[in-house]
Amino acid sequence: MDLRDRPEDSAFRAEVRHFLDTHLVGEFAELGGRGGSGDETFGFETRLRWEKVLAQGGWTCLGWPTEYGGRGASMTEQVIFYEECARAAAPGRVSVVGEGLLGPTLIHYGTDAQKARFLPPIREGSEMWCQGYSEPDAGSDLANVKTRAVLDGDEWVVTGQKVWTSLAHQSDWCFVLCRTDPDVPRHKGLSYLLVPMHQEGVEVRPITQLTKTSEFNEVFFDGARTPRDNVVGAVGDGWRVALATLAFERGAALLGHQLSFGRELDHIIATAQKNGRASDPVMRQRLARAHAELCIMRYNTLRSLAGVDREVARPEASIAKLYWGTWHRRLGELALDVLGPSAVVLDVDPDVDGSVDGSVDGSVDGSVDGSGSHAYELNEFQRTFLFSRSETIYGGSNQIQRNIIGERVLGLPPEPKGVA
Ligand SMILES: Cc1cc2nc3c(=O)[nH]c(=O)nc-3n(C[C@H](O)[C@H](O)[C@H](O)COP(=O)(O)OP(=O)(O)OC[C@H]3O[C@@H](n4cnc5c(N)ncnc54)[C@H](O)[C@@H]3O)c2cc1C
Repeated sequence: MDLRDRPEDSAFRAEVRHFLDTHLVGEFAELGGRGGSGDETFGFETRLRWEKVLAQGGWTCLGWPTEYGGRGASMTEQVIFYEECARAAAPGRVSVVGEGLLGPTLIHYGTDAQKARFLPPIREGSEMWCQGYSEPDAGSDLANVKTRAVLDGDEWVVTGQKVWTSLAHQSDWCFVLCRTDPDVPRHKGLSYLLVPMHQEGVEVRPITQLTKTSEFNEVFFDGARTPRDNVVGAVGDGWRVALATLAFERGAALLGHQLSFGRELDHIIATAQKNGRASDPVMRQRLARAHAELCIMRYNTLRSLAGVDREVARPEASIAKLYWGTWHRRLGELALDVLGPSAVVLDVDPDVDGSVDGSVDGSVDGSVDGSGSHAYELNEFQRTFLFSRSETIYGGSNQIQRNIIGERVLGLPPEPKGVA
C-alpha cells in the first residue's frame, strides 16, 4: 500500500485545508480541538454551530453517496479530511452517531420515505441521534434485549429501559433495538425502530462518569410512541440491521477519533520535553514505543477500512478495535507519568481561586458555552487517562474482540454456551 498522496489526493487535501483556514476561526478555533470522544459535553452549542458551517460547505457526510447529499468521497479522501481536521484542531463533531451509524444503515436498509425524511437533517446538522441498544442485562449479550414494542393501530408503543446511551440528552431521535415478538428464538424477535426523544413516555437520566461529566444516560421508555413505518428493515429482522450498524461503528466512524491520537501524543511528548522527563531513558522508550505503535495502528486501520462498506465487520475490525482501545488506555497512563506527581492534582478549584485554567499548557479552559458546567475541569491528560478506560468496553469490549479473533481468525473452538 503506497501511503503517499497521489496528485488528486494533494488537490483534495489543499481544498480541505483552504476550507479550514478560512472557516475554523473565532469561537471555533477557541475550542482548541476539544469536544471529541469523552469530552462531548464541552462547548456543545458552539460545536453544533460548527456542524452547520461544515454542512454549508458540503463537508458533512463525506462518505455518503451523492444521491443522498454526501460527497461520495473515497476512504482515502475521508482519511485526508479527518487528518486535516485533527491537524487544524477542529472541534469534535456532534453528529457522529447520525452521520456515522444511522445514516449508512438507512442507506443500506431504509425505505425511500425513511431516507427522504431522515437523511437531510443529519447532513444539515439539525437533528441529533443516539443509539438505544444496551440495557442493564443486554450489553455484550445484545440479543437479550427486553425493551418491548407493540403495535397499537398505526403506532408502535415502546416500553423498557436502555442504558449507557451516549448523548441521549442532546438527541432528537433514538434508534432503538426492541423485542417485537417474544415467542420466537431471541435473535429473531427483534426490530429496529426510530423513536422520537421529545415526547411524554421518554425520560433521560444522565449518568455521571469518572470524568465528572455526563456523556451517557439511562433512557426509560414508558409507552413512548412512534409511527408504524419507522421500522428499519422488516419487522423481526432487527438483529441483522443492528449488526450492520455495529459494523459501521467499528469502522469508519472510529477513524476521526483515532486521528486525534497523534495530536495527543505530540502534546505528551512536548510536555515531557518541557518538564525534563523526556531525558529519563525509560520514559524515552515508552514515548518512542507509543509513536511506533501509533504508526502501526494507522496502517492497520487503513487496511481494515478498505473493506468497511461491507455490512458485516471483518475480523480485522476486531483486531483494530482491540489494538487502538488498549493503546489509548496505555497512552493515558503514560500521560499521567509524564505529568508526575502533579497528575493527581486538580488544576481548577473554583472554591479557592475561581480560575478556569484547566489545561496542562496553561491555555484557557472551561465551558465555552456553559453546557459543560461542573465542579472542576480535568486537564487533557487526566481526561484521557480516565475516559480511555471506557474505550476497551464500548463498541465491543476487549474480551468480546478476543473471542471474535479466536473463533473467526484463529479457528479456535467456540466459547461454550448455555453450560449450567
Ligand atoms: C463510554 C460508553 C459509551 C457507550 N455508548 C453507548 C450507546 O450510545 N448506546 C448503547 O446502546 N450502548 C452504549 N454503551 C454500552 C456498551 O456497548 C456496553 O457497555 C458494552 O457492550 C458492554 O456491555 P455491558 O456494559 O453490559 O457489560 P457486560 O456485557 O455485562 O460485560 C461485563 C464484562 O464481562 C465481559 N464479558 C461479557 N461477555 C463475555 C464473554 N462472552 N466472554 C468473555 N468476557 C465477556 C465483558 O468484556 C466485560 O468485561 C456505551 C458504553 C460506554 C463505556
